[in-house]
Amino acid sequence: MKITLESKVTELSGCGKKRSELLSLMGIENVGQLLRHFPRGYQNRGDVKALSDESVGETGAFILTVSGSAQTARISGGRTLTKCRAFDGDKSCTLVFFNRNYIKDVLVTGCTYRFWGKLIRGKTGYELSPSTIEPVTDNVKLREFIPLYPLRAGLTQKFISSLILSALDQIEPSEIRDALPESVREALDICTEYEAYRYIHDPSSTDMIEKGRFRFIAEELFSFACSVTMANEGRRNLIGKRIDPERSKFYDFTAALPFKLTAAQAKVISEIRKDMTSDSPMARLVSGDVGSGKTVCAMAAAFIAVRNGYQAAMMAPTEILALQHYKDFNEILGKLGIKCGYLSGSVTAAKRREILYGLESGEIKFVVGTHALISQGVKYNNLGLVITDEQHRFGVMQRAVLSQKAVSPHVLVMSATPIPRTLALILCGDLDISVIDELPPGRQPVDTLVIGEKHRKRMYGFIEKEILAGRQVYIVCPSVEAQEEEEEVPEEEFLRFDFDKNPERMPKLKSAIDYEKRLREDVFPQFKTAFLHGRMSGKEKDAVMSEFAAGRIDILVSTTVIEVGVNVPNATLMIVENAERFGMSQLHQLRGRVGRGSEKSYCILVSDSKTETAMKRLEIMKTVSDGYKIAKYDLELRGPGDFISLNSQNARQHGALNFRMAGLCTDTQMLEKAFREAVKLIKSDPMLEKEEHAELKKAVGTVTGLTAATLS
Ligand code: ADP
Ligand code: MG
Repeated sequence: MKITLESKVTELSGCGKKRSELLSLMGIENVGQLLRHFPRGYQNRGDVKALSDESVGETGAFILTVSGSAQTARISGGRTLTKCRAFDGDKSCTLVFFNRNYIKDVLVTGCTYRFWGKLIRGKTGYELSPSTIEPVTDNVKLREFIPLYPLRAGLTQKFISSLILSALDQIEPSEIRDALPESVREALDICTEYEAYRYIHDPSSTDMIEKGRFRFIAEELFSFACSVTMANEGRRNLIGKRIDPERSKFYDFTAALPFKLTAAQAKVISEIRKDMTSDSPMARLVSGDVGSGKTVCAMAAAFIAVRNGYQAAMMAPTEILALQHYKDFNEILGKLGIKCGYLSGSVTAAKRREILYGLESGEIKFVVGTHALISQGVKYNNLGLVITDEQHRFGVMQRAVLSQKAVSPHVLVMSATPIPRTLALILCGDLDISVIDELPPGRQPVDTLVIGEKHRKRMYGFIEKEILAGRQVYIVCPSVEAQEEEEEVPEEEFLRFDFDKNPERMPKLKSAIDYEKRLREDVFPQFKTAFLHGRMSGKEKDAVMSEFAAGRIDILVSTTVIEVGVNVPNATLMIVENAERFGMSQLHQLRGRVGRGSEKSYCILVSDSKTETAMKRLEIMKTVSDGYKIAKYDLELRGPGDFISLNSQNARQHGALNFRMAGLCTDTQMLEKAFREAVKLIKSDPMLEKEEHAELKKAVGTVTGLTAATLS
């Protein structure tokens, strides 16, 4: 039977009904899905270690000859222990197996095997407890790199690996129609999809693995770059909603502000004004460090639009943030006679009707809200300006959908974190970029400490001191509820090539709900505590946030829902539990929640992780306060994944990017190159309608979570 990417896995030899059902639980039903089941790493069994003091403590391959027959003994707990002597060169060791009686039938005295395991020093000399055994013979060459696949109970590495190899042997390479056209492959210097599968699933060198991996990274980046370019294409040729600078009477706005604009803000606002008075619609990204005052720039843009007779809409990624913006905007713009509205999924039906009516009639001039703003029923009277706050959490498509609510509106995008320029270019397509490179006066730097569990008592003492001095404290935990048991991580160490972001055993996660309960009942019964997380309704969140802002809550235990934008100046202490779990830019955002008032503020990062990268990252947090520098490190150490915010529930629900590999790409040159090529290709085929781009169109859909129909 001819095997294609669409063939069911059961058509491959060696895969029966039972196993195919297990595979389907992992989302693998056809050959294409099987081939895209990538290893999370490899064992490099070609790198053979010698029995020696240097190898003690190391996990790896040992080629040993068995020198005596295996002996099995019963030990405590009804277990058995099988031992056997083996040697290489002039050293010998004891092979140790628990509950594997059959070993004595496997190992033959005088024969040589390749074992994989960790060498230790036992009571009587070297000991090795191998997890795999392969006979070494003259006629079969052993594989050097053994892929390790994500598994499910009932399936083995060996099974998956041989099934994939048999698929690769049975499928005609021409059956795999590459999503990347040849011209693009050439420009990006990458192999074909078929070759990449070979390289990834059956490599014989680390170079090969890299080459294969690179191919898929390139595919994702390129598809993404295409979607961005498609979303932006053509906009430059549109006629914008022309603004008359005279009509704005901008000094009214500056007079209504409680502070004087910084020079950087004034510069950015003048760039915005210039865009809005030009012939084509504005498409600008405002980037700036945490607390640099991006909001007021958005407000200025809204003011200008409204004074010229247009409506303005602003979309924020969370309800907390949307509400905060609503209050801020309403305070200033309301004073200037501009009617403001708020819309989210959780406003009452009556309120929603009222807002929708106000927007359609044009009575409401400025509206802020969550993604509810882009839902179907929302119609505008004369929308002229679309602002998205903390943009990367939305993705390009939401911006496109909101923009469709009007004919070529001006678009302003506020970035959440300082984004390295290269990345901004890619994530936000061909937006013009304004940078606020100055903080408002009087800001005190936040002191950052990194501590371990053993300092917890002292930390509680510090919390108490701050609260008694009248201040408030944030504590951020990585998860909402108690952690589910972590997926079993095999004991073997292996080459990771960054396939898996956090393969190390992590310290146990702190959960916001349990944590708050313990603080309230055991640690600080005298203080008022509360928790906040993404699964609470908008109303509940708002109630807690308002209480905290009003100073009626001393300690707010939260997940990262407070990460972006939240502004409570009286909070002076930010504690992040399991700090190793967070990206640096995320930690920087969290740290930015304090140091907003005149009091000295602190950020304590709690972590017991001992891995090198985690410690390096936390060390950087301690010494660097410039968000752009941190973002650059972050990109280098973790790739763009954190900027695209793959983990945010919100983002996932609303069509964020489905990067499997590119999120880990730390090669910014590659990012840029992919983007340049995408622009070229989209210029030649704006809607990807050409026959030779059919596969690419599918890939674009996969990476953006949208179907081809939505794109066109
Ligand atoms: P971000 O850039 O992180 O979004 P915000 O716009 O929320 O920052 O501003 C942070 C805080 O700084 C707010 O309380 C805001 O009122 C204040 N702020 C903004 N601009 C100025 C300024 N020019 N002078 C003083 N305070 C300012
Ligand atoms: Mg902000």
